[in-house]
Amino acid sequence: MIDPDKVGADLVVRGAGRLVTCDPERDGALGVIERGALAAREGSVVWCGPEVELAGAVTVAPDAIEIDGEGAAVLPGLVDCHTHLVFAGERLEEFAARMRGERYDTGGVRVTTTATRAASTETLHALARARLDRFLSFGVTTVEAKSGYGLTVEHERRLLEVAATLAHPVEVVRTFMGAHVVPAEYENDRDGYVTLVAEGMLPGIGSLAEFCDVWIDEGAFTPAQARTILRAARDQGLSVKVHAEQLSRSGGAAVAAEFGAVSAEHLEHATEEDAAALARARTVAVLLPGASLMTKSPVAPARMLIDAGVRVAISTDFNPGSSYSENLPLAASLACAHLGMSVEEAILGITRHAAAAVARERTHGLLTAGSRADFIVLDASHEAEIAAHYGAASIRAVVKDGKIRRGGQRGRTPGIRSRIQPA
Ligand code: ZN
Repeated sequence: MIDPDKVGADLVVRGAGRLVTCDPERDGALGVIERGALAAREGSVVWCGPEVELAGAVTVAPDAIEIDGEGAAVLPGLVDCHTHLVFAGERLEEFAARMRGERYDTGGVRVTTTATRAASTETLHALARARLDRFLSFGVTTVEAKSGYGLTVEHERRLLEVAATLAHPVEVVRTFMGAHVVPAEYENDRDGYVTLVAEGMLPGIGSLAEFCDVWIDEGAFTPAQARTILRAARDQGLSVKVHAEQLSRSGGAAVAAEFGAVSAEHLEHATEEDAAALARARTVAVLLPGASLMTKSPVAPARMLIDAGVRVAISTDFNPGSSYSENLPLAASLACAHLGMSVEEAILGITRHAAAAVARERTHGLLTAGSRADFIVLDASHEAEIAAHYGAASIRAVVKDGKIRRGGQRGRTPGIRSRIQPA
């Protein structure tokens, strides 16, 4: 633990009209501090509190970066906990066909897989970095990225290696998803592909990914096939995630609970029984309202999950087919308008609960001593702006690891007195 009194804070925020800490130790759903201030050192928050207490609590280094919130709301950097970040190719004709009335199914993943295998590693890097730029513009400072458009030993490794070497301010958490769908060449030997994932791909993946995800659904994998893969994943030291109950009720939520999964994701067809099992297992529900909207499918039963005691996270499901958007605040808008969530629940869904879905709830998605200095300054006085101003990116500045990544250029962004240029 850094002692700010000895070394001095190197980043200070004053004048936050509402400092939304999302700290469960503070009062209220979002732990809001009015007229708040924050101090950080070497990328970590060292102090949060009312601005009047700042001078007595923290020494500020003479060359510290000073941000004047000018009364705006300041929130933790947003966490997008379910994306398919690294891929090549387009699915625009599929989108057009869907809008003419064709149904969404698992087949499009194979289209992207063909394009991704054919792309150079440099192209995959460039595409993923451009997407991270867009995520950052929407206030997202941490992104989970699933592999799953390679579907061979070599190509799945390559996607995770790309995700590991993006060298971008946005932090990328890697999930192995060789069990996204069965590739075309294994169509007549689906169990053979399960064996390939469990025995061919997973050994050695432990250094490249933290999580293993499996899509349990019609056209994807059965619960029995998923168990084989998830056991192999656990043997490699990976934590478990499950794409569950998206297109049909297929038993994914029960498998997630059985394996003590960090998260069960989608859940459009989850039942009360599923909700109770997830609550008992402390598994986070990751809901993806953009995917429901854009595939004209049922929405997930958010209220039922919350009432059962499940923590609910909200994500874009960024991917080229069912949900092609990096706009996480828009997903929060949809969570409010279509999933029946309150603004406070939606904000927790893209901050602290999303961090829990990537096993980072003590350091990410909240602002407290010891957390990462990841935060956003809104262009508004109240945090509801993030959901109410739907589709907009009303974010004045984004700070990741204590450095200003967007905003901060003198004269361009009111209220930011940065002594450094943005990284
Ligand atoms: Zn997904």
